[in-house]
Amino acid sequence: MLQKIIEQIKGNKRFLVTSHVRPDGDALGSELALYHLLRFLGKDVVVYNQDEVPENYRFLPGSEVIVHAVDDLDRFDAAVILDCGNIERVGERASDVAKIKLLLNIDHHISNDGFCHVSYIDPAASSTGELLYRLVVAMSLDISWELATNLYTAILTDSGGFRYSSTTKETLLAAANLVGCGADPQWISEHIYENNPPVKIQLLGKVLETMRLDIDGRVGSMAVFQETLNTLGAKLEYTENFVDIPRTIQGVDVAIFYIETETDLFKLSLRSKDRVDVEKIARFFGGGGHTNASACVIEGDFSDVHQRVLNVVRSVL
Ligand code: 5GP
Ligand code: MN
Repeated sequence: MLQKIIEQIKGNKRFLVTSHVRPDGDALGSELALYHLLRFLGKDVVVYNQDEVPENYRFLPGSEVIVHAVDDLDRFDAAVILDCGNIERVGERASDVAKIKLLLNIDHHISNDGFCHVSYIDPAASSTGELLYRLVVAMSLDISWELATNLYTAILTDSGGFRYSSTTKETLLAAANLVGCGADPQWISEHIYENNPPVKIQLLGKVLETMRLDIDGRVGSMAVFQETLNTLGAKLEYTENFVDIPRTIQGVDVAIFYIETETDLFKLSLRSKDRVDVEKIARFFGGGGHTNASACVIEGDFSDVHQRVLNVVRSVL
């Protein structure tokens, strides 16, 4: 299927590149790598995301080209939708993007509903960035510093810093080759992980106070509420990776992070250690993702939502 994607890339001229709402390192690194690749091939490219680029990803080469509004979608020959298992993940423009003549999808979600005309999906891959690396290799293209930096970031962040079970020999070989092409592991990690605004750490302090353990210590959870964000003047994006903290606790198999995005509306990030499938939990509530990292949205009063989630967690443990 990679060959079919390559044929469509070669055979078309005007591309819209997009990914999911609240973009993460994999979404952004993949989009910008594809941007540089398509520009190198002489194509016209617009990169659109509903949401802004989080501060810690603004170092990514090309991040300034990303737009948050786009019109005349008929002018595109094709849309490439990256790191999304369904069209709704694109956000408010999803139904307009879906009308573009040719939809291409490169993705690694298990819960991919096959919404594009041509797709390259590998749920075993660490990241969409790793799939784009395969694309670059299959096209025998030179890997510039810009391409290497974006792809390395995508792979680094979605593999949890090469720690998740999706990290394979191929993942590490891809990363190694990208370093050989100019990606700087220290410089990239410092921008992403060691560049926190002080208020993010203050927020973390408040969030840690919400930590609780349930089901004999096998479930660790934390929450952030609107009131805390407002009081500190903290952005929602500062909570990225907070879910990894309960996951580090001895005996915890499932980590949950609740974000109150609106009153009585919670976005859940779910993480697990190797054996537990949290995708099933997210899917039960209408979300999705991967075996060890998934997400969903649940409406209701916090303690009620937490009890409902624990009931479903019990059924997968
Ligand atoms: P995160 O907790 O980092 O936001 O998301 C974890 C995983 O779940 C990611 O792979 C992400 O793409 C997926 N995911 C996040 N939000 C949603 C959602 O609303 N629906 C679906 N189907 N998947 C999601
Ligand atoms: Mn991803």
